[in-house]
Amino acid sequence: MKCSICEKEIETTFLGKIKGNYVKVGGKLHPVCNVCFNTNREDIKTKINK
Ligand SMILES: [Zn+2]
Repeated sequence: MKCSICEKEIETTFLGKIKGNYVKVGGKLHPVCNVCFNTNREDIKTKINK
């Protein structure tokens, strides 16, 4: 699973959950890594590559 902002691979936990967050844009969920999520919190929806 790749981050929708920095395009780096997002690590997953042993339960299969990503070490990041999903952001809903345009009715779709986009995976975002924790680094991008925390640094782009204010305008995250404009940063996501759809
Ligand atoms: Zn990222």
